[in-house]
Amino acid sequence: MSKISASLPSPETRSPEEPSLFEGATYLASAHSLRDLPPPAGPELAFAGRSNAGKSSAINTLARHKRLAFTSKLPGRTQLINFFGLKSGALLVDLPGYGYAKVPRNVRDHWGGVVSAYLGGRTTLRGLVLIMDARHPLTELDQQLLDWFAPRRLPVHALLTKSDKLSRREGVDALAGARAGLAKWGPDHSAQLFSSLTRAGVAEAEATFRRWLQTPAEGPEG
Ligand code: GDP
Repeated sequence: MSKISASLPSPETRSPEEPSLFEGATYLASAHSLRDLPPPAGPELAFAGRSNAGKSSAINTLARHKRLAFTSKLPGRTQLINFFGLKSGALLVDLPGYGYAKVPRNVRDHWGGVVSAYLGGRTTLRGLVLIMDARHPLTELDQQLLDWFAPRRLPVHALLTKSDKLSRREGVDALAGARAGLAKWGPDHSAQLFSSLTRAGVAEAEATFRRWLQTPAEGPEG
């Protein structure tokens, strides 16, 4: 057995007939400032993570689309909030990756302002998907993001990406460590292993996101 198949956390269990939550996702809009945000419509799932953690790959894997989130990597679009529409009417929101050392200070500050305002105030937001490399979970910047987001009292689900790079034992330990670390922010903070290479964890992620999207909003949408 190869190292990759031996370390698969869980195979994809969704039957081929069941439509994927993200399949058929289409690019809708990009926002550079709060003014540009599309008016709140369907329920939203926001994806955030350190640059290079595997966010674009995870979005593409979930959407079964090779280059959907590649849009976000086009020059000029990396510092934008990118919105994708799902067939159900829900939206997938790709937040700019953080922690990239070459980003100038003023750009980082701008990003911080727009993203914290989005995460802090978007009424249609149902939960935050935190993308972290399974080998380096909960870096300082990840923790800062969790601190910012905590007042919303919305669920957070961490995808511990690149799990194919870990042995089964390492995967078990990484997951337990991340879950224990996330517990500090509350009971609605969950984690799972994920691999865009093997698609391990896709069904588990979808099950969580479906549950979020079915949860009615608290208070009026606006
Ligand atoms: P982003 O900056 O967070 O959007 O990260 P990318 O999706 O561009 O991925 C960064 C690098 O990690 C790329 O070289 C990807 O090919 C690689 N990568 C992403 N996900 C996986 C994964 O699940 N397994 C492995 N082995 N490599 C991955």
